[in-house]
Amino acid sequence: MVMDFSTTLKDKLVNATPVETLQAIAAAYPGKVVFSTSFGWEDQVISHMIFKNNIPIKVFTLETGRLFTETYYVWNRTLEMYQQPILAHYPDQALLEEMVSTKGPNSFYDSVENRKQCCGIRKLEPLSRALKGNAVWITGIRAEQSLNRHDMRAVEWDEQNKLIKYHPIFSWSLEDVKAYIQENNIPYNPLHDRGFPSIGCAPCTRAVQPDEDFRAGRWWWEDSSKRECGLHTHNEVVEK
Ligand code: SF4
Repeated sequence: MVMDFSTTLKDKLVNATPVETLQAIAAAYPGKVVFSTSFGWEDQVISHMIFKNNIPIKVFTLETGRLFTETYYVWNRTLEMYQQPILAHYPDQALLEEMVSTKGPNSFYDSVENRKQCCGIRKLEPLSRALKGNAVWITGIRAEQSLNRHDMRAVEWDEQNKLIKYHPIFSWSLEDVKAYIQENNIPYNPLHDRGFPSIGCAPCTRAVQPDEDFRAGRWWWEDSSKRECGLHTHNEVVEK
């Protein structure tokens, strides 16, 4: 089991730019590197880096069926702009039909248990399928996003999915992200300009006030300590 990048690869990553790190990782794990996008600001930066530089990393998204119209808009714009595939992973049809048939389309508002069941069916199960057989999972996580993520590092071992997670813009500030988007004319979700720093499913995301936490608009009706959906739980740290 590979728990960390090799010493040779680590040497290449020292002082490398995010694009150079993505190129080096793709070369070290041919055909086994995936990037998950939900079309937020950070993800659009990484999609741009991958697509513009033709880095052989598979890009996928989780089509939960409950995304914002604006998210579908930026998804389409991204396809038009880069002309490169973004693989859509859908929930298992039988699991989804069983949940919605018995509990209705909005069961997630009723209890944390129901919300976790919905996230499990619409996100986690498709995610595990998307990651299966790969060695490295690239994400757009940044250090300053949410309390739970403060003790994370740029490279981690994901025990649940048995692969290395790498966050190429981990140290970037939001201002860095916005500046990169502007400089490179990258399409982005218009909801970001309407108070949505973090954008998930439409029924579970609201705008936040300037003084609120980054993820305060996600599952806002729940206790804040329970608000991660399970996609990015804290993992074993293997390197800073
Ligand atoms: Fe379901 Fe909401 Fe989770 Fe989306 S964010 S999968 S709608 S509970």
